[in-house]
Amino acid sequence: MSNSLSSGFRFCRYFIKQYLGRDSEPGEWRRLQEERLRVMVRHAYENVPLYREKYDKAGIDPDSIRTLDDLQRLPMVSKDDLKKGFPFAILSRRIDPGNCLTVSTSGSTGSPVRVFRDRRFFRLAPLPLLLGLLFAPRFLKRWGGSKLKRRMTIIAPKDEGYDIHLLYKQLERLPRFLRGGLQYLDTTAEPGLLLEALLGHRPDVVAADPVILQNIAAEAGRLGRPLPAVKLLVVGGAFSGANARARLAEAYGGRVIEHYGAMEAGTIAFACPDREGLHPLWTSVIVETVRDGKPCAPDTPGEVVVTNLWNTVTPIIRYAGLGDTAVQEHEACSCGSPAPRLTLLGGRQVDALVLPDGSVIHPFRLTLALERIPRLDRFQIIQEAVDRVRVKVVIDGAGEEAVAASVMRNLNAILGDAVTVLVEAVNDIPRLKGTRTGQAPVLSLLEPQSD
Ligand SMILES: [Zn+2]
Repeated sequence: MSNSLSSGFRFCRYFIKQYLGRDSEPGEWRRLQEERLRVMVRHAYENVPLYREKYDKAGIDPDSIRTLDDLQRLPMVSKDDLKKGFPFAILSRRIDPGNCLTVSTSGSTGSPVRVFRDRRFFRLAPLPLLLGLLFAPRFLKRWGGSKLKRRMTIIAPKDEGYDIHLLYKQLERLPRFLRGGLQYLDTTAEPGLLLEALLGHRPDVVAADPVILQNIAAEAGRLGRPLPAVKLLVVGGAFSGANARARLAEAYGGRVIEHYGAMEAGTIAFACPDREGLHPLWTSVIVETVRDGKPCAPDTPGEVVVTNLWNTVTPIIRYAGLGDTAVQEHEACSCGSPAPRLTLLGGRQVDALVLPDGSVIHPFRLTLALERIPRLDRFQIIQEAVDRVRVKVVIDGAGEEAVAASVMRNLNAILGDAVTVLVEAVNDIPRLKGTRTGQAPVLSLLEPQSD
């Protein structure tokens, strides 16, 4: 605990310096992360059976993990490790179980994972939450573009297993005039009821699952009701493609920005205010992209592996169970964030395609080429033979020929004349089991090349 206080103090000092416009030393943010990493690795090894067992088996001396580069020597933790380890192997023996509560991932993934949180954190939460509410419009102005009113709506589950609901319950203990600008709606309510509640509250900012926002927009269309004009929509990152975001922006008339988080690890990344993509919330997590167990070269896609720097109750160190794929870019960003820029690529590992001349096509190039075609709702690119690629497309509305022609043209430009591109319009693309979003945007049916 004293370790957490002293590093918390150093993080605060960094932000005060930033706020005052003083230069921080280059790489200072990395050193702060590394300091927390050392604390967490030692704590996990000493107090949490899952980590003790894993690190002993791999012959890891926790004191040898000093820098972010050392992180890759640690074994990864899977979803199965957390599930099998629940409750005692993933719970720190330093905490009184009476001070713990469990939160779980959404049941819609088919296979929920539970982790522990410190109950004391939620008891202390109202004050920082209130400050957060007061400062949120100023913080969000960078994305919202104009002045934002302090009226916000969160649409989230009303369920004890969710952080956000637990936080809101604490907030409800405060006088109404202090929290009046915040409206909390239940995800499971009928879209029509949600629509009326939004029209009544007239929020400037709405945070919700993009599917729910789409359902509300569809309901408004059916009922002939207007949609509230929202300046900023904050939606879950891994689930929203560029097309879905564009449709939401059009329907509500505001800007759509991505938030990427997971119950196991908390908030992972938030949209860059200037460009496409997200910046990891470096104060609370370390994000790696990994392929075949090794760190990815910069700008190549890999599986997202996350380390939380603060949850000492169930430490999350090199967690590989999110099932998300992303590309990280490490050049300095125009928005001033020191953290890398993360672009999420749908929900699972994507395959590379191999051309007849042996060259390898990056799947990211293919998905980007199709992402912005109007009315192309979803797609799956399948390499069936070295010279044949089939694209299954789900088209939103009419104009099948035009969409198919655009798909064909954009892919031919990348794949060249030696590859035949077949476009097949389908009603649905079956979801894959065992992945979080169930999507496989690029699949190769070729046998893997042996070296
Ligand atoms: Zn940026």
